[in-house]
Amino acid sequence: MIVVMKKGATQEQVDHMIQRVEQMGLKSHVIVGTERTVIAAIGEHRNTDKQALERGAGVEEVMPILAPYKMASREVKSKPTVIRRGSLSVGNQHIGVIAGPCSVESEQQIISAARAVKKAGAAALRGGAFKPRTSPYSFQGLKQEGLKLLAAAREDTGLAVVTEVVAPDDVEVVSEYADVLQIGARNMQNYRLLEAVGSVRRPVLLKRGPCATINELLLAAEYILDAGNPDVMLCERGIRTFESHTRFTLPLATVPYLHQRTHLPVVVDPSHGTGHAELVPDMARASIAAGADGLIVEVHPDPESALSDGYQSLDFDQFEQTMQQCRKVAEALGRLL
Ligand code: PEP
Ligand code: MN
Repeated sequence: MIVVMKKGATQEQVDHMIQRVEQMGLKSHVIVGTERTVIAAIGEHRNTDKQALERGAGVEEVMPILAPYKMASREVKSKPTVIRRGSLSVGNQHIGVIAGPCSVESEQQIISAARAVKKAGAAALRGGAFKPRTSPYSFQGLKQEGLKLLAAAREDTGLAVVTEVVAPDDVEVVSEYADVLQIGARNMQNYRLLEAVGSVRRPVLLKRGPCATINELLLAAEYILDAGNPDVMLCERGIRTFESHTRFTLPLATVPYLHQRTHLPVVVDPSHGTGHAELVPDMARASIAAGADGLIVEVHPDPESALSDGYQSLDFDQFEQTMQQCRKVAEALGRLL
């Protein structure tokens, strides 16, 4: 970290800060400039609360050098992480598309969706059994019955199953049926839940909270990694802004930015990111062009009758066309979809 002293800070104040830095077990290196003095602290640990030093007399600013996350960072692991589970491969050259309905509604619905997305080239099936809904009066999901239907769809198609877990107490039962545990946007900072999915041997798809910064997303991933689970995919699914023409604002710069900072694969959700089916194909292509390692797309046999998120769900034909277009973009970039 670097402690920047105020212009005109006294020698006594500088000496005091050198002493504080050394008390933290760090070596200090003082740079006396013409305008101000700077103290570089060497041997930094992440688990000391450096920001408290900003309260020191004569201190202008304390700037951390290391990213606050560690296991998620490129500094610690430079090679990209590839997540493999059953039919799904995400990361490095592999683009994995996860597709299916927002919610599991019936056997007929999930089996037909699984077959259609497989035929179009999806690598995994999505479908919520435990649904975190904004309103308590909205469809809450089929719960364990939904998990059983997802397992039946996997049996039928061979597709890996991605489904959401909303509470620490449900992690065990969801892990029994699911191949990948999804942490929804609303739960990105549910730290007990992150620890719970960190202690099971299932890859995790961690969605960005609509009001969370990228640093907060990476620190949420760090909870899972630190609890012992190395298989985390990050998912950009749009953030809340003043803009209202889309349900959320989908910032695709997140993808290359995350790739610079973390080895974890980055998945984009153009369905929640836009909230309009007609915008999904274009944003799916754009996500691949931006370097996404995967997509998660809502697909329903009859979007008009869906029990959740029908307005942003593609029908089978639209999904098939989207996949064809995405494949062309991937090929142009020398990547496999
Ligand atoms: C979902 O994937 O259906 C979902 C609820 O997404 P999010 O958590 O991103 O809102
Ligand atoms: Mn949804």
